[in-house]
Amino acid sequence: MSQVEQETFDVVVVGAGNAALTAALAARATGARVAVLEKAPLKLRGGNTRFSGGVFRCAYSSLADLMPIVRQHDSPETVVADPYLPATYRKDIDRVTGGRADPELTSVLINRSYDTVRWMADLGVPWEFNRAVGAVTIPGASKVKLPLGGALRVKGEGVILSTTLFRLVEEAGIPVLYETQGQRVVTAVDGRVAGVEVRGPDGLQVLNCRALILGSGGFQANPEMRTAYLGPAWSLVKVRGTRFDTGEMLRAALDAGAQSYGEWAGCHATPIDADAPTYGELRLTDKTNRLSYPFSVMVNLDGERFVDEGEDFNLYTYAKMGRQILQERGAVIFQIFDRKTIPLLETRYNTGTPVTADTLSELVHGVEERYRALGIRKTTMLKTLEDYNAAVQDGAFNPDILDGKHTSGLRPEKTNWATRLDEPPFHAYAVSLGITFTFGGLRINTNAEVVDYLERPIPGLFATGEITGGFFYLNYPAGAGLMRGAVFGRIAGTQAAQFVQGRS
Ligand SMILES: Cc1cc2nc3c(=O)[nH]c(=O)nc-3n(C[C@H](O)[C@H](O)[C@H](O)COP(=O)(O)OP(=O)(O)OC[C@H]3O[C@@H](n4cnc5c(N)ncnc54)[C@H](O)[C@@H]3O)c2cc1C
Repeated sequence: MSQVEQETFDVVVVGAGNAALTAALAARATGARVAVLEKAPLKLRGGNTRFSGGVFRCAYSSLADLMPIVRQHDSPETVVADPYLPATYRKDIDRVTGGRADPELTSVLINRSYDTVRWMADLGVPWEFNRAVGAVTIPGASKVKLPLGGALRVKGEGVILSTTLFRLVEEAGIPVLYETQGQRVVTAVDGRVAGVEVRGPDGLQVLNCRALILGSGGFQANPEMRTAYLGPAWSLVKVRGTRFDTGEMLRAALDAGAQSYGEWAGCHATPIDADAPTYGELRLTDKTNRLSYPFSVMVNLDGERFVDEGEDFNLYTYAKMGRQILQERGAVIFQIFDRKTIPLLETRYNTGTPVTADTLSELVHGVEERYRALGIRKTTMLKTLEDYNAAVQDGAFNPDILDGKHTSGLRPEKTNWATRLDEPPFHAYAVSLGITFTFGGLRINTNAEVVDYLERPIPGLFATGEITGGFFYLNYPAGAGLMRGAVFGRIAGTQAAQFVQGRS
């Protein structure tokens, strides 16, 4: 702290993920003197952003639009991309959130998505086509069809996104104060932001500033807040990413008069390896995800199916699937594949060890043996798999489209990609859930200003990223988290600098 003791900053940014660092860069570029507070030690810096797959959901009208973004880092010869127009983006958000997403904030997210990704490319963030998550190989064409909306990701994923943003921050001369936790918004008598109280290596201190940008993530790593807002069942869940997003600035902003917004009982939680660690580990980042379930049959410990595995493409169901697994006994389920579907598994499954067998009966026996402590009903499990096989209707299986190949007479039915488990080997993966981030947060306006309950901006207080609410409800479309953080990070930084200069 000593290096900045005497200085007053125009803008202090709390947090050091994608949302906060894009805000810091935009504020600096608009002429403000900026400092960044990072609660984590240097070794563990960078928040969830560093764990992420680096997929950004942005609008574009053709593959040609993406070329100025990927530049020399990739080439278009082996990919195909359907247009992803703003209207489609909006439909996707409306569909997965049940029409609840804030319409104005959603418009900004969508309409600023493309130019924000280009801005990041101009700054030096390297991009490539997303051939991994949600991409499908076109049979016989040796080309990959990029996932609609999720066509781009940072080359080197979240690790390189984080490294690049820290490098840019350093080059811009912005100090980053590590192991420094923001914990209170300091306001003057007229209600303007005057600083932030921090707990750092030298104890408590108030850092003066004229604008404060909160980019300190959600509260998913805080068991007490998870229990209070998401419910007691969430007390013990695994956390997919950083352990440092524990919500103290969220509470501090509410104490300062900010309006709470969005689905406070909602979160993004995905199927992950049942043996994954309690918190995210950088050696695994997002590689514990188990998202090829549309091609599987999923059964719980009682041996029963509990969900339509083939409701939609996984990019539109994975964020809510964790919640569905939590409702099952022990919060552990099994995803079962056979020789036909094993080649369709994402490569991330390589980080796990499935139970394997040549008959369904042996498979169920193997599951019971390995996971006996969990209490498996193996007779029911075998009957469920046999009933499922008997209920599969004829039709062409096509993993690239919603093929309508379904079961008939089951509850729940499988509505797409229903193929029989009839070709050995059979593989069963034990899967639990991991929480990614929470949906409830602070209400901001389209200038990223935090507003009070009368919708008036709190002068000098801005927010971006997972600390904000109103964007996602029940579910979210993949890649919209990083995109939201960068769009509103850039706006928050620019607006905060202009506010300080009296130009807002
Ligand atoms: C495994 C995994 C994979 C993912 N993949 C994708 C993906 O491909 N695409 C996508 O869009 N989203 C993805 N996400 C979600 C994405 O990571 C987040 O939406 C995004 O990174 C959030 O950015 P943020 O800056 O708001 O928060 P974070 O990146 O979490 O940053 C929060 C920062 O605030 C700091 N902090 C917290 N509290 C304080 C405090 N009191 N004082 C000071 N600092 C504090 C933290 O240490 C951290 O630096 C993924 C998440 C995970 C966990």
